Amino acid sequence: MKRIPMLINGEWVGNDSNEWLPVFNPSNGELIAEIVKGQKEHVDEAVHAAQVAFESDEWKKVKPYERGQLLVRLAAHIRNNAEQWSKWECEDVGKPISQAKADVEAAARYFEFYGGAADKVMGDTIPIEEGILNATVLEPVGVTAHIVPWNYPLQITARSVAAAIATGNAVIVKSAEDTPLTTHAIAEWFAVSELPKGIFQHVTGLGADVGGPLAGHPGIHHITFTGSVNTGISVMKAAADNVVPVTLELGGKSPNIVFSDANEELALEGVVRAIIQNAGQTCSAGSRLLIEEKYKERFLHELTAKFNELTIGPGVDDKEIGPILNKKQFDQIINKIQDAKSAGKIIVGGETVTISGSEGGYYIQPTIIDGLDNTHALAKEEIFGPVLTVFTFETIEEAIELANSTDYGLVAGIWTRNIDVAHFVASKVKSGQVFINNYGAAGGVQMPFGGYKKSGIGREKGFIALRNYTQVKNIAVKFSI
Ligand code: NAD
Repeated sequence: MKRIPMLINGEWVGNDSNEWLPVFNPSNGELIAEIVKGQKEHVDEAVHAAQVAFESDEWKKVKPYERGQLLVRLAAHIRNNAEQWSKWECEDVGKPISQAKADVEAAARYFEFYGGAADKVMGDTIPIEEGILNATVLEPVGVTAHIVPWNYPLQITARSVAAAIATGNAVIVKSAEDTPLTTHAIAEWFAVSELPKGIFQHVTGLGADVGGPLAGHPGIHHITFTGSVNTGISVMKAAADNVVPVTLELGGKSPNIVFSDANEELALEGVVRAIIQNAGQTCSAGSRLLIEEKYKERFLHELTAKFNELTIGPGVDDKEIGPILNKKQFDQIINKIQDAKSAGKIIVGGETVTISGSEGGYYIQPTIIDGLDNTHALAKEEIFGPVLTVFTFETIEEAIELANSTDYGLVAGIWTRNIDVAHFVASKVKSGQVFINNYGAAGGVQMPFGGYKKSGIGREKGFIALRNYTQVKNIAVKFSI
């Protein structure tokens, strides 16, 4: 069993701690690791070390392209060790090994993408008047905090850390208490890299003990938080006291809007994959099916058949659906399914599954719920499991109204062969990403990602995210010869 210390100021901290938190493999409930139960003092130490590192000549002398080369080397390291890292992600989150492999490749792509971008972060020259040269310079913000959830720990750590280091910041990552393994693997790489101590640090522990103090620390200059809406609100409030900007990636209740002229095979496959990826524990899960009324019976018939064929099992067995993270998540999903039994109708699934040899894992059948009133809580709230709710529309306007009827606005899928309908709906849907006749577009690291409404503030991924980690300084030079 692995014991995971924190990386603070280039040192492994906490090995002498007598307070450790267990980490379990969701596939079978086995204890796989322990993390140090960090405290506020650790956060204080890390922030101080980051401030010193950020201001150091040693860091300022590292040229942007050299920062980029370093990140590209990390990408190569991840790819060279992809098998081991996938195994860790699979054990830690429970996800099927092929999905863990895709996450590892995505993490490598983030470091590669932002590594390539490091020396291309440019300001503007702005015409003012004769005799004045006016230019903007994009400077790093300073010390950036990155608070990561448990569902895609490696990808989510990689996407913001890569952008922040590419732009010259000193980063502190707080991993989720359930899933620290791959963030620790990144820390191991940074610990022996040639970077100044304190440019990358990893703190572990509970949200209240470590995440809260980090979010409210006056020495932090930007917070990237990915997680639930409620925690995001408290992070934002803590940041407000220090007038610190936040990037928030929160939840979703994303619709797949299927019109009767859709390419049926594509739409069926898209709707299924959008809800079962990571057993539905995905912020951008397509958890609502909005289907044209006249097409409902046929489409649901085919969809039910596909759901019935889905395989369930431990991550290492690489079935289509893995376990739910832990008992707490499992119980909240089961309770919601129970509510749905009286408020609506379960078309398929709805039961727990016991896997022989993995009795300690938490498995749930992929489930379709029909007949809910759109005002019901289950129609509005994230379920965060392999559970799809179905609603119908007759007109394009109704489809748009339904799509926009939750507090969230992260992703939307539109399935139709009619280009006018597709673009009209895309223009009206309030969500940060819209996919037409696909869902996810292979998860490209280049595509801006983030939400409308309570799905969040700001965008990650792509070039646009580099702006999260830079300040604009305007310099006007007057020459008077
Ligand atoms: P969570 O909010 O419980 O925890 C997220 C992180 O915040 C963890 O590291 C946790 O320790 C920390 N934390 C907890 N309390 C804190 C506090 N008071 N102050 C600071 N940090 C604190 O979320 P979760 O259960 O880990 O993740 C699931 C949620 O994340 C879902 O709602 C999902 O939709 C969302 N999510 C969003 C995205 C996205 O990119 N939009 C991606 C993945 C997950």
